Amino acid sequence: TMSCLAAIDAGDALNAFVHKTPEIALEQARAADARLKGGDAPAMCGIPLGIKDLFCTRGVPSQAASNILRGFRPEYESTVTAKLFEAGAVMLGKLNMDEFAMGSSNETSCYGNAVNPWKVDDRLLTPGGSSGGSAAAVAADLCLGATGTDTGGSIRQPAAFTGIVGIKPTYGRVSRWGIVAFASSLDQAGPMTKTVRDAAIMLGAMAGHDPKDSTSADIPVPDFEAALTGDIRGKVIGIPKEYRMDGMPGEIEALWARGIEMMRDAGAEVRDISLPHTKYALPAYYVIAPAEASSNLARYDGVRYGHRAKLAAGDGITEMYEKTRAEGFGPEVQRRIMVGTYVLSAGFYDAYYNRARKVRALIKRDFETVFAQGVDAILTPATPSAAFGLGEMADADPVKMYLNDVFTVTVNLAGLPGISVPVGLDGQGLPLGLQLIGRPWEEADLLNYAHVLE
Ligand code: GLN
Repeated sequence: TMSCLAAIDAGDALNAFVHKTPEIALEQARAADARLKGGDAPAMCGIPLGIKDLFCTRGVPSQAASNILRGFRPEYESTVTAKLFEAGAVMLGKLNMDEFAMGSSNETSCYGNAVNPWKVDDRLLTPGGSSGGSAAAVAADLCLGATGTDTGGSIRQPAAFTGIVGIKPTYGRVSRWGIVAFASSLDQAGPMTKTVRDAAIMLGAMAGHDPKDSTSADIPVPDFEAALTGDIRGKVIGIPKEYRMDGMPGEIEALWARGIEMMRDAGAEVRDISLPHTKYALPAYYVIAPAEASSNLARYDGVRYGHRAKLAAGDGITEMYEKTRAEGFGPEVQRRIMVGTYVLSAGFYDAYYNRARKVRALIKRDFETVFAQGVDAILTPATPSAAFGLGEMADADPVKMYLNDVFTVTVNLAGLPGISVPVGLDGQGLPLGLQLIGRPWEEADLLNYAHVLE
């Protein structure tokens, strides 16, 4: 804990931690020491972690990197952080992210972007998003692990951009209680760590049924670490042809081929498969996610939380709402609210929102079909490129940024577990990641396949 606290101070230039909690960390570290001395050594005992700013942490600023939550200190602890603390973990502070987890580069944060510790010459690169602070902090050894959340790729893409491991569990595996909601039917929290083993241990501490989240599943949590045998003989790994996109960089192709070889060498059977509705995933996601977001964000009205605009004489409640929301939400969040409100409006609901829900069902069925045909897991690239330069995409058409999520959003739409694992470097020396997608509730096997790729 002491060396992480020093590393965090030395690593301020990365802008990964937006709020440091050294007093809490030292108190928790002392308590962990005492537990160890007493012969009680829970899974995460004394392990220093960073917590994404999307998680409510009692008495500690929890702003979802938004100005509208300025000064918000929750009176309660999220289930995930409470479970981690029960398992002995230490909180070093809160981590940077895209505002309300909307983005792929950490550039929509009210704190300014986090920076990728990997560099090409002097060019500053994005750590990815939305869990960019989590990825930068773990990759730069400011903490041993971090919490992330993933609605359309926000754990897996930043993990790939920074050369670390990130797993999005099956929808319902980890409680969403106390995590600021983005798109409730897609959001899941998961660990971001240096190794698959660390991810297995940390996921075990985060997961489990929680009566406070009605979508949390009452399914036992297996010993994920015990599953890391490296034995995948006879398992069937599917390679979906629809993920072989036009214009895919040669380096991503080569990485994928290398992953396939590694699976074969370990005794798995590699099989070509088809997920025919893949091309509709991105448009469906960018209807469903903003629709749910527009509804979830309605609660930030200037009354209940955080920021309230200064009002002029004669302003009524409508002006209060309008001014507060115009000042408090950044441009990307406002764009999502407008898109979401539009697709849910009476005249367009069937044409957009209902259509997207049907597409979502077809995407889910694609996966069910290949799993029923005996495929155990699916191997794809995690991202269409290595980390890009800061400012490079943010100034472009927003749809360009959305295209980053092309390999990851299908997994959220289908509610499946997905893991990103670092497999190699590109020609410039930047990390690249592969993604493995598994059957529902089979994170243990998925972690084992990922372990083979490490
Ligand atoms: N980049 C995607 C978006 O902006 C995914 C974000 C996420 O997973 N939280 O919606």
